Amino acid sequence: MNRQVKCKTPRRPPPRKPPNSQKDPVGVYLRVRPLTAEDEECCIEVISSTTVQLHAPEGFKVNRNGEYKETQYSFKKVFGVSVSQLELFEHVAKPLVVDLLHGKNGLLFTYGVTGSGKTFTMTGSPGLGGLLPRSLDMIFNSIGPFQAKRYVFKTDDKNGMEIQCEVDALLERQKRDSNFTVPKTPSSRQKVDPEIGDMLRPEEACKADNVDEDSSYSIFVSYIEIYNNYIYDLLEETQEDAIKPKPPQSKILREDQNHNMYVAGCMEVEVKSAEEAFQVFWRGQKKRKVANTRLNRESSRSHSVFIIKLAQAPLDADGDNILQDKNQVSVSQLCLVDLAGSERTARTGAEGTRIREAGNINQSLLNLRTCMEILRENQMYGTNKMVPYRDSKVTHLFKNYFDGEGKVRMVVCVNPKADDYEETMLVMRFAEMTQEVEVARPLDRPICGFTPGRRHRNQAFKEERGALIDNDGTSVVNGMLLSLPPLPSCELTDPNDEITLPRLIEALQNRQRIRQMITDEYNREANMMKSMLQQLDSSLASKENLIHEQNCRLAEKEKVIQSNKTEIDRLEKKNKTQEHKIDILQKTTKVYEDDKRSLQQELETRGHRLQRELSEKRRMEQRLQGMVSDTKHKWEKECERRVNAMQLEMQNKLWVKDEKLKQLKAIVTESKTPGRPDPPPRQTQTKPQRPSREERPPAKRSASPSPLPTTTPVRPLHRRSRSAGGEKWVDHKPSSSLDLGTVLQPVIPNAIQVSTPNEKALSKCDRYVLTHQEVASDGEIQTKLIKGEVIKTRGGGQAVQFTDIETLKQELTTTTVPSRKRKSSEGASASGDQTDGAWTDVETRCSVALEMKAGSNMGPGYEHHGITKRRRP
Ligand code: ADP
Ligand code: MG
Repeated sequence: MNRQVKCKTPRRPPPRKPPNSQKDPVGVYLRVRPLTAEDEECCIEVISSTTVQLHAPEGFKVNRNGEYKETQYSFKKVFGVSVSQLELFEHVAKPLVVDLLHGKNGLLFTYGVTGSGKTFTMTGSPGLGGLLPRSLDMIFNSIGPFQAKRYVFKTDDKNGMEIQCEVDALLERQKRDSNFTVPKTPSSRQKVDPEIGDMLRPEEACKADNVDEDSSYSIFVSYIEIYNNYIYDLLEETQEDAIKPKPPQSKILREDQNHNMYVAGCMEVEVKSAEEAFQVFWRGQKKRKVANTRLNRESSRSHSVFIIKLAQAPLDADGDNILQDKNQVSVSQLCLVDLAGSERTARTGAEGTRIREAGNINQSLLNLRTCMEILRENQMYGTNKMVPYRDSKVTHLFKNYFDGEGKVRMVVCVNPKADDYEETMLVMRFAEMTQEVEVARPLDRPICGFTPGRRHRNQAFKEERGALIDNDGTSVVNGMLLSLPPLPSCELTDPNDEITLPRLIEALQNRQRIRQMITDEYNREANMMKSMLQQLDSSLASKENLIHEQNCRLAEKEKVIQSNKTEIDRLEKKNKTQEHKIDILQKTTKVYEDDKRSLQQELETRGHRLQRELSEKRRMEQRLQGMVSDTKHKWEKECERRVNAMQLEMQNKLWVKDEKLKQLKAIVTESKTPGRPDPPPRQTQTKPQRPSREERPPAKRSASPSPLPTTTPVRPLHRRSRSAGGEKWVDHKPSSSLDLGTVLQPVIPNAIQVSTPNEKALSKCDRYVLTHQEVASDGEIQTKLIKGEVIKTRGGGQAVQFTDIETLKQELTTTTVPSRKRKSSEGASASGDQTDGAWTDVETRCSVALEMKAGSNMGPGYEHHGITKRRRP
């Protein structure tokens, strides 16, 4: 009858490379317990739902300069003093319970210094149940009706799970009940220890949704304590010897075939209710207390681990019995760990054995920290350092959670009192570091392949059947049998009885007939049923076809949807790129427009400047034109003046030459008639003069205006000589000059007489006169007064500009002055006039010279002239 099927926990992925890349960080929660009345100073402040601030207490020197320092720490969630046990449970443990029910592993531990509320958080107190009783309650609330009978699931000693049929389980139950005197775990609330009775309030009960109803479940609990790096089973059944108590036996850790760690030989108690489970826990707790007291141990130095193991197996296709397939059994576990106080040895002040204990406790917590640090490093920097799980029992036991997969959560408990400040700071640092460690997310359990809802349908069927059978206590078959006529009595008392047998035969024949009828009826009904079933089948087939068609269509539609989606995606991408392009173009346009605007502005300013420059140019042109015409005019005048001066000079030179020629001629004629010192008569005098006059270019004569005094001789007698005024003269009389004894001598007052002109004399005077003697054409010596103005040259010297010539002549004849004054050109007929011609010429020339100085002061030339003329008679 032993149809036990050995099952093992579903094979887990090899530890070092979990197939699922999804990882979750270790969930770290912080719980701040309230201060007690004595603790006045608080060093922790909750600033947000995820952050706390740690203040150094007064008088606590944080660094060398004694600065007051504040540090902030962030966690997944921070629970302040007012947070209830239920709220904490809902946030922290509920998801782990849900995972457990779905075949996933979880690890939850409390961490903190002694007195920070670890045990309160994990176990709680009456009315304020902690995470452990709440988890148990929720588990049984969720799987209550789907639990397998006791011993259907059986743990083996290699961390595996066996499964057996209900009958075998029943037999085992009976056997155990009779053979062993195992103290039966109470199953009703009445027997529950009053200490733990009111852990939970009924209204706070939790239940998981979506529990697979087509599976059967069983819960096993175990409770161990790790003290001094030794593992003790708190649920072990030991025969207590009151007189000589045996020291507890430590357990060892083993690895099962799936590389999961387990405590070898540890009691796993199957429990069927939360109360029962908690009762078991409490038993362990009591044992722990006893051991601690008896062995003089400090409970805060031990780690306690409560393991809830859930075995589940699917129901068979009928939904009636558990599937007897070991491969379909899955085991998941939730470990609830209340770690030892994390304070350092020095603080406890322990001595002797205590130091060793404390050291060990610290060692295992220290090792936990080391493991976390290396794990984090490996994950963050891709290193492959060996994680020293084996260095302590605690880390070794939970190796699979970090190496394999599962959900790990830690509740960090802190007491905000100032005394704990330093320890609390260390706790915070460890906690912050731990939340950077990632653990592979547990995979979903594969589905067994049977139609869901089997349990429910089976139950419904059973109810229906029960109703049918229970109808008036008779079955349908019984009813049919009753409808047959009763058999007559077939007791033969007499061998000659001929009535009984025929009557029996008749009755039997009757029954035969009725049976035949019933059979016929049954066959008819069966046929009908068959045809109905066939109809149903065909309609089902057609329905299935229809469904298939619809499915095909659906698939097509889905394909279309998919293609549309990809098209949409493509278009959206295109749209995005277009938008991007538009954006770029808009930006470019803007840049260009800006450029255009600035260029236009520049154009405008340049245009303006051009305009300005043009008008400026025009103005300049006009000015230049004015200047040019002015300069031209000036230069024209200047040229004219120079030409005239030159002309005059040339004429003078010509005239001088003429005179020289005349003198020469006179000498020649004189030499021809020796002894005649007298000058030649006027007749002869004029004759050679004529041709000389003819030699002059006619233009010169015409250029020089006709002398005024021809008809009306100039008589400027009344005019006072200017020289008589302030003007100073240089009177140049060459030493060769002869004193002719002329009565009328030019008198120049205020003059410096020189025989050769010199610089000194010139610099002192502003006018110049040269007395020149020469022999006239008529042989007479004539004296000429050549006048000029002394001009200061730019170089600092003096120059003389000739302006006037006066001629003084001695005549032996008694010709009248007026006749001499007649213009030569006027009367060529009068022979007497010919002599006058020379005079007139000189006069004319002088007037020309005078005219050249138009606007200037009348020079003494006129005066001498006048004087000469006046004095001549
Ligand atoms: P630990 O296990 O860390 O040494 P405990 O859980 O034993 O600390 O807590 C010490 C004391 O503080 C207990 O009496 C407990 O009831 C109380 N306590 C701890 N946390 C809280 C809390 N959050 N609210 C109320 N009381 C608390
Ligand atoms: Mg405690």
